[in-house]
Amino acid sequence: MVKHSSRIELSQSAYKNNINFIRKKIGKDAILSAVVKANAYGHGIRTFVPMAERCGVNHFSVASSFEAEEVLSVCTPESRIMIMGIIYEVDIPWAIEHEIEFFVYNYERLPKALEAAKKVGKPAKIHIEVETGANRTGMPKSEFQMALNFLKKNRDHVVFEGLCTHFGGAESNSNQFKIDAQKKRYADFLKQCKAKKIEPNIRHIACSAAALAMKDTVYDLVRVGVAQYGFWPSNDIYFAHLQEVNKKNDVGLKRIFTWKTDIMDIRQVDQGEFIGYGTSFQATQNMKIAVLPLGYSNGYPRALSNRGQVLIKGKKAPIVGLINMNLFMVDISHIKDVALGDEVVLIGRQQNNVINVSSFTNTTQLLNNEMLSRLPAAIPRKVVR
Ligand SMILES: *Cc1c(COP(=O)(O)O)cnc(C)c1O
Repeated sequence: MVKHSSRIELSQSAYKNNINFIRKKIGKDAILSAVVKANAYGHGIRTFVPMAERCGVNHFSVASSFEAEEVLSVCTPESRIMIMGIIYEVDIPWAIEHEIEFFVYNYERLPKALEAAKKVGKPAKIHIEVETGANRTGMPKSEFQMALNFLKKNRDHVVFEGLCTHFGGAESNSNQFKIDAQKKRYADFLKQCKAKKIEPNIRHIACSAAALAMKDTVYDLVRVGVAQYGFWPSNDIYFAHLQEVNKKNDVGLKRIFTWKTDIMDIRQVDQGEFIGYGTSFQATQNMKIAVLPLGYSNGYPRALSNRGQVLIKGKKAPIVGLINMNLFMVDISHIKDVALGDEVVLIGRQQNNVINVSSFTNTTQLLNNEMLSRLPAAIPRKVVR
C-alpha cells in the first residue's frame, strides 16, 4: 500500500472522555446513539464505529441507507443501526433483512414497509418522525391518526419502535421560543399515542445541543453527533454548561481527531519573488519555505490561502500564497532544524501549540460540521491510545 498525502488520527481516550461527559449530562438510562452521518462527521465510519463500540456505544444513526451499509460492514452484530434520512423503496427489504431501523416521515411509506416486511419474513422496525416545527422531514398531524391506526392493525409486521422529531436550531438561545413550541407539539403527539393505546418503544428528540443543555428533551434515546467528536454545538451551549457547573472555563469535550502530513520539500525564496500561483504573496525578505503535499482537493480549505497556519517542530508556520489543488507552502524562516519529511500538524496539537478547527472556521465562514464532513474519505484514519 502506497502512502496517502495526509492522515487522520482518532484519540480513543478523548472519545471516551466525551462519552463520559455526555453520559453525565443525560443520565444513565437513555440510549446514546452516535450519529455517524457524513462519514462520521469526517472522522471515518470504518475507523470510528469500532472505536465507539470499544467505548461502550452500540447504537448508530446515519443519514442514508448507503451509510447504514458502511456501518453494517464494520459493526458488531449487537449494534443497532438507525437510518434518519433517505432510504429508497428498493432498499427497504435490505434494511429489514439486516434489522436496520428507519425513520418514516410520511404515511405513504407505511404500506411499503408492511409489504417489504411480509416479503422478507421479518418485522420492519420503524420510527415515526413527526412534524413539530422544523419543516423539513416529519409526518404532519393530519396523517398521524391514520398512521397510528395502521400501526395498531399491522403490529405483527411493522414495529412502532420509535416516535421522534428533530429540532431546528436547538444550539442557539435566540431560537428557544421555536424549540419550546417543538417540545410541546411533540408531547401532543405522544398524548395521541397514549389515547390510541399504541405507544412507541422509545421516544427521542434530542441532538447534541438539546442533550447537553435541556434535560427535558432527554427521553429514552439521544442522537448525539457533533458533541461526541468533541465540539460544543455553539457558544450558547458551552456557556450554559459553564453556568451549570459554576466555572469560568471547563475543557469538558475534547477534540478527538488530529490531521497530519509531512514536509515534501524545503526551499529558499529570494526577496521580491512571488510564491506559487499569481502574485498574492511576495517575499519581503529572503525566506525559507516548506512545501506540503495537500491542497483543497484533499479537504484543506482554499479560503485559508495567506491566512492559515500549520505546526512544525511545535511552532506555528503561516501559509504563504494560495492553497493549490494538491500543494501549499508555509513560511519556516523562523523555525530551526526543519528537515524534509518532518511531521506537520494541520489540525491538532504538537508540543505546546495547537491548531483548532475553529481557527479554520472563524476566518472562513465554514461551519465546523461543514469543514469536518468534507474531509475526503480517502484520507487514512487510525485510532491512537
Ligand atoms: C444530524 C442529526 C442529529 C445530530 O445533530 P448534532 O447537532 O450533531 O448532535 C440528530 N438528529 C438528526 C435527525 C440529525 O439529522
